[in-house]
Amino acid sequence: MVNGGGDVEPQFLSTAIKKQALRNAILHKGKADSNAVVSKLIGERPELKGQARQILGLAESVIAEVNAMTLDQQRQRLQQTTLDLQPIAVKARKKGYLPELPHHERVSVRFAPNPNGPATLGSARGIVVNSEYAKRYGGSFILRFDDTDPQTKRPMLEAYDWYLEDCKWLGAAPDVVVNASDRMETYYHYAEELIAQGAAYVCTCSQSQFKKLKDTGVGCPDRDNAAEKNMRLWKQMLDGRLGEKEAVLRIKTDITDKNPALRDWIGFRIVDTIHPRGIAFRVWPMLDFESAIEDHDLGVTHIIRGKDLRDSERRQEFLYKYMGWTYPFTLHWGRISIHEFGKFSTSKLRSEIAQGLYRGWDDPRLPTLMALRRRGFSPEAIRLFILKLGINESDVSVSLENLYAENRKLVDPIAHRYFFVSDPITMSIMNAKPTTGRPPLHPSSSAVFREIPVEGSVCVSAQDLSSSGLDLVRLKDLYNVRIVKKEPLEAEYAGDKITKGARIIHWAPPNGPQVEVFTPNGVDIGIGEPGIAAELGRVVQFERYGFARVDQVLEHHGQTKIICYFTHK
Ligand SMILES: [Zn+2]
Repeated sequence: MVNGGGDVEPQFLSTAIKKQALRNAILHKGKADSNAVVSKLIGERPELKGQARQILGLAESVIAEVNAMTLDQQRQRLQQTTLDLQPIAVKARKKGYLPELPHHERVSVRFAPNPNGPATLGSARGIVVNSEYAKRYGGSFILRFDDTDPQTKRPMLEAYDWYLEDCKWLGAAPDVVVNASDRMETYYHYAEELIAQGAAYVCTCSQSQFKKLKDTGVGCPDRDNAAEKNMRLWKQMLDGRLGEKEAVLRIKTDITDKNPALRDWIGFRIVDTIHPRGIAFRVWPMLDFESAIEDHDLGVTHIIRGKDLRDSERRQEFLYKYMGWTYPFTLHWGRISIHEFGKFSTSKLRSEIAQGLYRGWDDPRLPTLMALRRRGFSPEAIRLFILKLGINESDVSVSLENLYAENRKLVDPIAHRYFFVSDPITMSIMNAKPTTGRPPLHPSSSAVFREIPVEGSVCVSAQDLSSSGLDLVRLKDLYNVRIVKKEPLEAEYAGDKITKGARIIHWAPPNGPQVEVFTPNGVDIGIGEPGIAAELGRVVQFERYGFARVDQVLEHHGQTKIICYFTHK
């Protein structure tokens, strides 16, 4: 949605859906139909159209909740409900996180990763900020793969799709996708134009020879070669007569420039490695050359990038001057460091994953977007986290707690609650009648509850017990027990009424599924409620433990095992 639009907060949405679902259920013998609910809601509130996907996602769980009620409960709920939808007036998406772009009559922005690994939380900044600007000004957002280094920062074939998927997930589907490696002929075309102009030359010096000369502000012997000779040598680079490291094509700048990094920089080098996409060229443009050409050819108007790339910009400006082009408007941001993630090297990670030190690129310990997605983060939380960082030139150091706080605001109102007991020990309970525990599915409504049958024993966590003496304990939403003996653990039933001062502890049925939660700090293993299995793919809250996404439900010899990925506390 372009400027001025805005999304409705999820908690408001689920309220609106619930009201619609209750109405629909009452009309249809107590069973609401999700399609009917969603289309009715959007019909009444066309401004929600843009959020149809989000609504469908929310509707499923809300409708399940409504359909679990009796018809009477549904009627009562609809009547007594204070679900006044007036305050749902669409909140304009908060402006002000990002400054206005100068010269925004026409906006075309790009995010240009090298796909040599998956997108990280750091990449999310480039994706979110650029696409946000494109949306704000009705411009276009380009995803360009700067993939012209087949050797040192060799692209990963899978990463192209991963980036695209991550962009879409973040609500930033690109308008245009370009692979630089598809455009080699274009780069050659410009290289030859520069050679003909005398603005580029083939240098056959060794690296150290050239450096020695350059550092003292002296041009190498090749610098004054005639264009015809340069063109001949360039053809020899292309056809293989010149080998790797025997020659490079340099862009002529000012050999006495105050900044040695700008002096006659390399535009192309020879790399005798087949590109992972099977592209059989041997002379590859350096990133500065490739991206300078692409930004011009794609009509990029604004480049938003790290301030560490200033030298790049200066180098590219020489090229723009030779070609008679205007350099895009640039904005710079400082580095972001996230406390919880140290420096990650993509190539190091790749080998550590191959060695089995991580479960994959989506291991919960990694800062990749696919890991955050698997852990159940909402893309909206990531978007807000990024936008609130702004685009200042100063470096920012930030804690993941900020991201957790954003995400908590979104999942807390909708995530179903369950008991999960880690390090479980069995507590046998004397004198207890078989009964059913009925804790609410969400604290906002006690009318919708889980059902956990309990006979003569429950599982409790060893840690919970170690800190309590031999006394009265309340099993949450069940009944009280008095602990009689610690080893083996025995207790006796001590009434249903909530007793003041009794410690409340969580529990799970001994025959509940085994639950394994993969967290950034390791794996927590325990027992959970049977209902968790129905939450496959969703984020739930394990009470007093934290949020987690139900990743897999496995059946093995009649036993259920549930794999979860920890979101945050
Ligand atoms: Zn030279």
